Amino acid sequence: MEQQIPQSILAVDLGGTSILLGEVTLDGKVLYTQSYPTNTATQAAAMENIQKAISHYLDTVPKKASELIAIGIGVVGRVDRGGGVWMEIEPGKTNPTNASRIIEQHFGLPCGIDNDVSCATLAELKHGWGKESKDFIYLNVGTGIAAGFVVNGVIIEGSHFNAGEIGHMVVDMNSDAICTCGRRGCVERLSSGLGLHERVMRLRSEYPDTAIAIEEGERVAAQAIFKHAQEGDPLAERIAEEGARALAAAIMNMVRISDPDTIVLGGGVGGNTYFKELVEQHLNPKTMRFVTNGLRGTKQATPEAGLVGAAMVGLEAWTKKQGSVVS
Ligand SMILES: [Zn+2]
Repeated sequence: MEQQIPQSILAVDLGGTSILLGEVTLDGKVLYTQSYPTNTATQAAAMENIQKAISHYLDTVPKKASELIAIGIGVVGRVDRGGGVWMEIEPGKTNPTNASRIIEQHFGLPCGIDNDVSCATLAELKHGWGKESKDFIYLNVGTGIAAGFVVNGVIIEGSHFNAGEIGHMVVDMNSDAICTCGRRGCVERLSSGLGLHERVMRLRSEYPDTAIAIEEGERVAAQAIFKHAQEGDPLAERIAEEGARALAAAIMNMVRISDPDTIVLGGGVGGNTYFKELVEQHLNPKTMRFVTNGLRGTKQATPEAGLVGAAMVGLEAWTKKQGSVVS
């Protein structure tokens, strides 16, 4: 007979278009997930959606473990993890919201919150590469680009919880790609899912015979660009090549900052094998000489690494409460 799992955590991962909820064990195994629609136009709307999703999940999904001990939430934007405060959903929209307290009061369970890439980094630290390395960088390349810097086993937060926003690291000072941050040649404009699409739109007139299907108002998927690049389409090849070169430059700049032994490449774009191999071709061996494990994929057994990390943040909130009860 299967042994009953004693305790679990309800984890919440807020994405751009959906909220993923799941029950996760204390050692990071995802037992069940369910997806809900969301609205991320404002923090208030997103908070309301998160609360509704949690209520619905708790009311309708039978829990797998005997006891649900905490709630952990991963969100986009800047988060004060220690204080449980969601500072802003995107740059310039600062609206500090005590998300942990709101959820705790509503559901009667300890709650922790952190940024989604920090959550994925925490999952990697506790259950992935962190078992082999105390100094690694988790680099998420998806719609945008951000990184979690693990130094001596600790994730760097920064003075305003804004460390690791390396999407705005300039890799080409003479680039024609102007960024929303006001600078030019940010790596996010060249190598992220959104950036690759922007390059297609910018350069398409020079390549009227491109095989890339472009629908007005639709984003060209990075995977489609990579597929056409592999098939020899000149526009796709140029964009993939430039994107890989830019990402390799950003990786080597990061290596010079914190001296990691491992770079973990995650996210929908970073997880593409063709793109990863293209990036590796542009890594200078001398710069990378102490990165002994090299550029690697995540060790997470599940595609829901963000959810596992969110659960770990929930577990941290629970542990803190236990400590305060004891003392
Ligand atoms: Zn920028």
